[in-house]
Amino acid sequence: MKRPPLGQHFLTRESILERIAAAVCPDPEPLVIEIGPGRGALTSHLAARADRLIAIELDAALAEGLRARFAGRRHFEVIQADVLEVDLAQWGSAVVAGNLPYYITSPILNHVLDMTPDLVRAVFLMQKEVADRLSAAPGSRDYGYLTVRTAFHASARTLFPVPASAFSPPPKVESAVVELVSRAPDEDLPVDDSAKFLEFVGRCFRQKRKTIRNNLAGAFPREAIDACPEAGLRAEQLTLEGFADLYHRLTV
Ligand code: SAM
Repeated sequence: MKRPPLGQHFLTRESILERIAAAVCPDPEPLVIEIGPGRGALTSHLAARADRLIAIELDAALAEGLRARFAGRRHFEVIQADVLEVDLAQWGSAVVAGNLPYYITSPILNHVLDMTPDLVRAVFLMQKEVADRLSAAPGSRDYGYLTVRTAFHASARTLFPVPASAFSPPPKVESAVVELVSRAPDEDLPVDDSAKFLEFVGRCFRQKRKTIRNNLAGAFPREAIDACPEAGLRAEQLTLEGFADLYHRLTV
């Protein structure tokens, strides 16, 4: 059977590894969870800065290699698993970090944001194209579901670009380091059920070229949708607050 693509582009430039670790832990952190530690390049920089480090690696051979490399180190644990199957909130408040496997960046971001309120901060190396989507402004080409979904739980900013030459093998896409800082749930947002709200936002974006009215057709009574002037807009024109407001009017 063919092995799945695991997105194994290992970061080899020490100066960048150290810069990422400093962004993850500007001060010593009680708990850091690393996603996709690979051979441990970033892991060793994080281990020097975190009181406790939990590394989640899918590849059995790499996980075994990490256990051997860091054998005897206290407060360090390797979990061999698909990160999407691991309950990341089980250890309580944590900072999350990693040079992400690019083929599942969005599902990992969703999974990490779902840790809220236990997510303190996340620092990820990802493809620049996704980084741009995370901090895009409404109305711009990159603004979409992932932008709004992220903004609901965190504020995102790109810290610095990383050249392909810093990896082995070099990826074919551009890369950047992004910081997500968790926000306390915004009490001003009229959203009672986060999951239902995010499903609603996803529906508004279902067909990007269509108006919100068309995307919501069938989900709510037509008169209720028609009573909302912003239903005539496209989802990419609405801010997080705009979505929350619309959701509130359609669901109360
Ligand atoms: N952190 C290492 C580095 O910078 O050199 C490796 C980064 S590499 C881009 C991504 C790593 O994630 C690989 O080690 C890969 O095996 C692992 N990985 C891929 N899919 C995964 C998953 N679903 N859960 C956990 N780890 C995964």
